[in-house]
Amino acid sequence: MAGQTKKFKTEVQHLLDLMIHSLYSNKDIFLRELIANATDAIDKARFESLTTKHIAQEDWAIKLTIDKDQKTIRISDNGIGMTKDEVVDNIGTIAKSGTKAFIKAMEEQNASSSDIPELIGQFGVGFYSSFMVAEKVVLTTKKAGEDTPAIRWSSDGKSSYTIDETEKDSQGTDVVVYLKEDAAQYLENWKVSEIVRKYSDFIEYPITLPYVKTNEEKTETVEIQTLNSQKAIWLKKASEITEDEHKSFFAHLSHHGGEPLKSIQISAEGTTEFKALIYIPEKPPYNFFMPDFQKKGLQLYVRRVFITDECKDLIPDYMRFLNGVVDSSDLPLNVSREILQENPLLKKIQKNVTLKVLSALKKMKEKEPEKYLNFFKEFGKVLKEGIHLDFANQEKIKDLALYESMNTEPGKMISLKEYVDAMAPSQKEIFYITGESRKALENSPALEVFRSKGYDVLYMIDPIDEWVMQSMQQYAKKHFKTADKGDVELDESEASKEKIEKAKEAHKNLLECLQNQLSSHIKEVRFTNRLTDSACCLVADEGALSSHMERMFKAMNQEVPESQRILELNPAHPLVEAMQSVYDQDANAPELPKYARLLFDQALLTEGSPIPDPLAFSKNIAELMVKAIKK
Ligand code: ADP
Repeated sequence: MAGQTKKFKTEVQHLLDLMIHSLYSNKDIFLRELIANATDAIDKARFESLTTKHIAQEDWAIKLTIDKDQKTIRISDNGIGMTKDEVVDNIGTIAKSGTKAFIKAMEEQNASSSDIPELIGQFGVGFYSSFMVAEKVVLTTKKAGEDTPAIRWSSDGKSSYTIDETEKDSQGTDVVVYLKEDAAQYLENWKVSEIVRKYSDFIEYPITLPYVKTNEEKTETVEIQTLNSQKAIWLKKASEITEDEHKSFFAHLSHHGGEPLKSIQISAEGTTEFKALIYIPEKPPYNFFMPDFQKKGLQLYVRRVFITDECKDLIPDYMRFLNGVVDSSDLPLNVSREILQENPLLKKIQKNVTLKVLSALKKMKEKEPEKYLNFFKEFGKVLKEGIHLDFANQEKIKDLALYESMNTEPGKMISLKEYVDAMAPSQKEIFYITGESRKALENSPALEVFRSKGYDVLYMIDPIDEWVMQSMQQYAKKHFKTADKGDVELDESEASKEKIEKAKEAHKNLLECLQNQLSSHIKEVRFTNRLTDSACCLVADEGALSSHMERMFKAMNQEVPESQRILELNPAHPLVEAMQSVYDQDANAPELPKYARLLFDQALLTEGSPIPDPLAFSKNIAELMVKAIKK
């Protein structure tokens, strides 16, 4: 059958262009990527052979062959293989949503930075990395357990590829890389051995390479050498694992070359027996916070046999930033993925893993606070979900939470314990305020009284915080209280109460007048002792949504119950006396409605809410300015 020539999809073309012209010097990773693909393919075939049994058991192996005459290196596996459609889908197209982002990231990196392997891994475009070193790549594949013809795919990586049927006796995939002139180093046994040992040592299938041995009589024999130790790293003792091994295993698991921040090794004995090696990454993958992020979960092995790399039940959702392996001794080897979903054993493992991770985080927080701060800045908003979702561990997670506060320097954070320990003896509650950013909160008039009393206020600036607070209730027997709600009673002294009462009495008519003018916007106008500098602020009625939450709902186009808030006035502000004298001269003075409106708009602006009628606002201001200037 004549081969069919097909054009690459535009994105692939673009990507290949970048690969071919990549200046990135560490091209070794192409071999790591092809070996990773071969490993995945064997994992899949072996899993099928254990469960559905329509695929036979094999001597699973990845065979490398070098041909110096042809200038090729071949990577062969006896894994799952591909049908023609799969080849077209997987190799001719990049069906992944992240491709565009990858290309952009790569262009921005100038295709030379050390982040390239990280990008390649993250975006799952490993196969194409072979074009960094290849003039031509020929892939021959035969799907395991199916009676479909073998397929040969070949391309020079420029604009098109050819695909045709071919002969292949055994299942699996051969990838032959025709090396460019400047990539001749990959024809050397030592170089290939070095790369395999560095990146793929723990792969559990033998990775072999024939080498020519010359004996004393100068006759040459070919021997097959296994390059990798195949040692499951998670079975080793913690002290035996080197940092480099951790790095390369993490890269293998996470599909991105970033570094692990911390490794956690678990060896559970007793009712549930399993070993685990878990990594907290230093940074999240590029798409971690995007809505289409597919959480994979940990890899599950049963007595060293790979079962799945998508076992979501091994960790709670709020630990989805982890990478790692769990190797169970209790599950049956032929456990199917469907059975896994309901398995109570996994719940037990999850419980154990969760506790170990929480305690490792606690230790890091105590012993390596800087490192922990970095972790928390990257993943804190995910971890905090646990306060709401994991009742059993709620207290532990509360202890891990960090917040910026009115008293911290920007970028520094404190724990709830630190907050409580620093509380003044007179302070009974933990105060917090929610908002979009530190900057937006810092100027909130609601904080004035706290500042004057020396009480700290926690800044809750992650969108998730308000939701988490619904379950917070208390910490160390202290209740949480929003700093910008109506019922905060800070200064309960008789003198202060009297001051408010007096102001209420003295300005009774003015308050009534303002209240009437603003009745469609607010529930009440009243005096407060929470302000020291500002003239007024808006506070939520106890039980109502905070202004931040209201803005969030509105931004999501959700119906928000029109909450009637309270406008609080500072009795000591000169504006109050000034308005009073206008009122005393003429209770129907035309300025009064304008003043009322301006007070309300001002309060909205300071808390970062939009004002309903900006045009009327600026007209009012302009009029007042003219008057003031004329005086
Ligand atoms: P990734 O491996 O991250 O998905 P690649 O570009 O390396 O990205 O490979 C694309 C897809 O091609 C793989 O997901 C897999 O389905 C298929 N593939 C690649 N190499 C092999 C192989 N040796 N055997 C079977 N399928 C393969």
